[in-house]
Amino acid sequence: MMQGGTEMDRLEEILAANKAFVAHGKHDYTEEDIAASKLPKKKMAIFTCMDTRLTEILEPAMGIQRGDAKIIRTVGNYLTGEFDAVIRSLMVAIYELGVEEIFVVGHYECGMAKTTADSLAAAMRAHGVSECAIAKIHGELEVWANAFRDPVENVKDAVAKITSNPYIPKNIKVHGLMIHPRTGKLDVIQTASDDSTLGKIAD
Ligand SMILES: [Zn+2]
Repeated sequence: MMQGGTEMDRLEEILAANKAFVAHGKHDYTEEDIAASKLPKKKMAIFTCMDTRLTEILEPAMGIQRGDAKIIRTVGNYLTGEFDAVIRSLMVAIYELGVEEIFVVGHYECGMAKTTADSLAAAMRAHGVSECAIAKIHGELEVWANAFRDPVENVKDAVAKITSNPYIPKNIKVHGLMIHPRTGKLDVIQTASDDSTLGKIAD
């Protein structure tokens, strides 16, 4: 057994927490609702940032409970392409799981606004990533990291990219919100009704 390694200490801590958690036995679904429990009750998906401060605040701040929504979290809730991992997740959410409404939720004080292609490349070099590998992604790195300067503009950009995406049906409502990472207060940046070209879904 390896002793003293941070990773192992953290894993041991997690496993100890898990043992206590599972012992309570209150969190499992019954056999009857296993299929239904995979479908988001509120027929909605949330696309937000991986920021640590949003954990345990974003859902209660939006009135979302377990089973209500599909939640996709990436760094800076930024869309990289027409068929990127986020769009793929949204496609499954819509076509397989019944999602009808998407909420892009950016947050104030997002760290991505300060990350640049140069800062990431320098850190990769310091961690031993080869120049060849860095060169291979440098163009994409610049487009992605340097383009992100304002979390509010990024929300508008993500909403525009989702609503114009050819794989996302036009009757899906897409809203853009900003959340404060400490208070949980939401600001509406854009609603689906702001765009008259969007179709309507019967309630
Ligand atoms: Zn963020």
